[in-house]
Amino acid sequence: MYPNTQLFIDGAWMAAASGRTLPVVNPATGEQIGTVAHAERADLDRALEAADKGFRAWRKVSAFERSKILRKAANLLRERADAIAPLMTQEQGKTLVEAKGEIMAGADTIDWFAEEARRTYGRVIPARAEGVYQLVIKEPVGPVAAFSPWNFPINQAVRKISASLAAGCSIIIKAPEETPASPAELIRAYADAGVPAGVLNLVFGVPSEISEYLIPHPVIRKISFTGSTAVGKHLAALAGLHMKRATMELGGHAPVIIFDDADVAVAAKVMAGSKFRNAGQVCVSPTRFLVQEGVYKNFVDMFVQATQRLKVGNGLEAGVTMGALANPRRTRAMEANMEDVGKHGGTVKTGGHRIGDKGNFFEPTVVTELENDARVMNEEPFGPMAIINPFKTFEDAVTEANRLPYGLAAYAWTKSAKTANAIASSVETGMITINHLGLALPEVPFGGVKDSGYGSEGGSEAIEAYLNPKFISQAGL
Ligand code: NAD
Repeated sequence: MYPNTQLFIDGAWMAAASGRTLPVVNPATGEQIGTVAHAERADLDRALEAADKGFRAWRKVSAFERSKILRKAANLLRERADAIAPLMTQEQGKTLVEAKGEIMAGADTIDWFAEEARRTYGRVIPARAEGVYQLVIKEPVGPVAAFSPWNFPINQAVRKISASLAAGCSIIIKAPEETPASPAELIRAYADAGVPAGVLNLVFGVPSEISEYLIPHPVIRKISFTGSTAVGKHLAALAGLHMKRATMELGGHAPVIIFDDADVAVAAKVMAGSKFRNAGQVCVSPTRFLVQEGVYKNFVDMFVQATQRLKVGNGLEAGVTMGALANPRRTRAMEANMEDVGKHGGTVKTGGHRIGDKGNFFEPTVVTELENDARVMNEEPFGPMAIINPFKTFEDAVTEANRLPYGLAAYAWTKSAKTANAIASSVETGMITINHLGLALPEVPFGGVKDSGYGSEGGSEAIEAYLNPKFISQAGL
């Protein structure tokens, strides 16, 4: 059973004013499984009015109360995880295990922000005159417009919504049209937990029409976007034009640096699991594997073996470890990458082809010794493809790691503390994880540098993005 998804505005589920809907397609079968309401100007106006009203009420709710409501939402999401996971698998393609894991991680994110809600401390600055109090307090920035993508239907939305609500902001979220039912269930958890009408609003429609209308609108004070760098630059420019604060979580092209002294067997196993998670449609997905010459052959052999053990299929089926790609754009992009690989000297060690003609399935793919001017060495593959090239010296690895304009995530493997310290300080990246996978927990910062965007969606930094400092200097009468 897969539901049709409606808009959620001012505390009520509703069809679009025009009655229009968009189809939702199962990427594993290519068949339409439902519809999603298509908001237009009238719906957005209602959402804006609701968010304006919601903000005025929610900002007055104590942090203590907001925290309690968020904790309840986290518990509801956990209780409902088994029912929500199949919806996510049907609309997005990922395996049931991945879907359930995403929902449980989403609940942990809500809990983290529930805790942060009560810690939006200001400070007292010593004054120059007796009887004067200099206070810094934190106030919510105001109604938020957020845009979340289809690769993690719940976890891209949950960070934006939870940080907004924890800070005392209201929010209009445009969730992904291609994967609408699971984020709608996320919204239901907050609403059932007691988030008041108007504070949280959910819309779907034509992304550009919605962003062009919401970002400049005077009610909206803060923008948060997760998606491609190209779209992010456009939205950041629009936000800048209208003096709106913005958080931009954009694309990456993560380097993975394996030094001669690494534990190659562990690195190959862990990195293969990470590469093909969510069929590679992950902004921090490891992509450019740089392996020092001494262990190059060994690493390639082990990585290819781990890749060949994956079982590709419909994410609803038991035993499947990699599901369908989320939409036909991704299979087309993978095919275009493979065509280009052939022109740039790459050796295809495994995979490289679309599987069948029903659904968006693509083989987990490993390419070695690919030239730097190949398309996939410069553009995020956002699919199940790893490229492995050898390097000689530490400097060679750093030069290649920093060659691209992206700077989201990086990975390194070495047994030397000296090399680990040196690589951590040399790679231009927002996040680096060394000798294990340690990214994307609710309590740690999550965000990039350079063309990968700005701002953080995790850790205590995340809630700061939704707060304005206000300075109050007060003397006794
Ligand atoms: P796309 O670049 O058109 O869309 C990316 C996301 O941005 C989608 O969620 C889309 O709804 C949204 N979007 C697009 N135009 C928008 C606009 N004008 N206003 C507001 N939102 C807008 O293409 P796509 O095929 O969906 O994805 C392609 C690329 O996007 C991927 O290859 C990947 O690089 C990137 N992407 C990144 C993430 C991430 O987690 N950072 C997630 C999804 C997609």
